[in-house]
Amino acid sequence: MRVTIYEVGPRDGLQNESAVVPVEVKREFIGRLAEAGLTTIEATSFVHPKWVPQLADAGELLESLPRVPGVRYPVLVPNERGLDRATLQQGVTDIAIFGSATESFAQRNLNRTVESQFEMFAPVVARALAHGMRVRAYVSMCFADPWEGPVAPEQVARVGRRLLDLGCCELSLGDTIGVGTPRHVEALLDAFAEAGVGPDRLAVHFHDTYGQALANTLTALKRGITVVDSSAGGIGGCPYAKSATGNLATEDLVWMLDGLGVETGVDVRSLAATSLWLAEILGRPSPSRVVQALAKEI
Ligand code: MG
Repeated sequence: MRVTIYEVGPRDGLQNESAVVPVEVKREFIGRLAEAGLTTIEATSFVHPKWVPQLADAGELLESLPRVPGVRYPVLVPNERGLDRATLQQGVTDIAIFGSATESFAQRNLNRTVESQFEMFAPVVARALAHGMRVRAYVSMCFADPWEGPVAPEQVARVGRRLLDLGCCELSLGDTIGVGTPRHVEALLDAFAEAGVGPDRLAVHFHDTYGQALANTLTALKRGITVVDSSAGGIGGCPYAKSATGNLATEDLVWMLDGLGVETGVDVRSLAATSLWLAEILGRPSPSRVVQALAKEI
C-alpha cells in the first residue's frame, strides 16, 4: 500500500505562524522537503497580501523553486483575482480552492453564504481547467465549527458533492478545529459514500489539537483513503482553535505509516532535521512528538 502525503507546511503552516519568514528560507524549506521525498508540496497562496502578509512573496517564491521531476507545488487560489496571478505564473499546474461546510465560517472567511460560495468558485475552477490545471477543493469545518458546534455529515457531503460537480478532482476534508474522533470520521465517510463519493476522490486534513489526528488518519486509511494532508514539524497553529497545536505533523504521520509498512517515499529523519532547523528560525519548538524524540539523535 502507498499513501501520498500532501504537504501543507509552507502554505497552511507558515500562513498560521506569527513569524514572517524570508523568501530565501521558504525556498530552502521547500527544497529540503522535496529532498526528504515529499512529492506534493503546497507552496503558497495567491491570497491578497493584506489578509495574509506571511505569503505576500508568493510570485517571487514560485519563480525560484527547484524544479524536481515528479514534485508538484500546488498553490491556494481564493478567487478569480488569485487565479489571474496563478495563470500569469510559469509552471503552476495544480491549484486549490478553500470552501466551507458551515454558514458561519463561509460568512467569516469568504464573506459569502455556503450557497453563494459555489458561484464564486465556478469560474475559478472552469478557467483553471481550461488552463490544464488540476483543482483540489478544501472543505473546512467538516466536523464542527466554533460558532455552530457539531456539523451534520450530510451537510458536509452536500457541499463536497457540489465542489466535485464544479470539476474539482479531489476534496480535502478538514477538521479545522481538531475536535473530530474516529467515529466522526466513519460517519463522514459514510455520508460521502451515500452521496456517491468514494475514497478515491477524498483526502483528509486532520488537526492534532485534541491529540486525535493519527487515530482519525488510521480510520480513514482503513476506509480506503490514500491521500493525507500534514505539515512538516506540525507548524501552523489554527487561528480558530484555542491551542497552539494545529496541523498533524508530517513526521508523526510518516512514523506511523513506516510502522504499518505503508510506503510514502519520505525519509522521516531527514524531514525531522529540516523541522528542527525551521523551529530555530520560527522561534518555537516543533509540537511534533516524533521531531522531539528524534532531536536527541539527529
Ligand atoms: Mg490545516
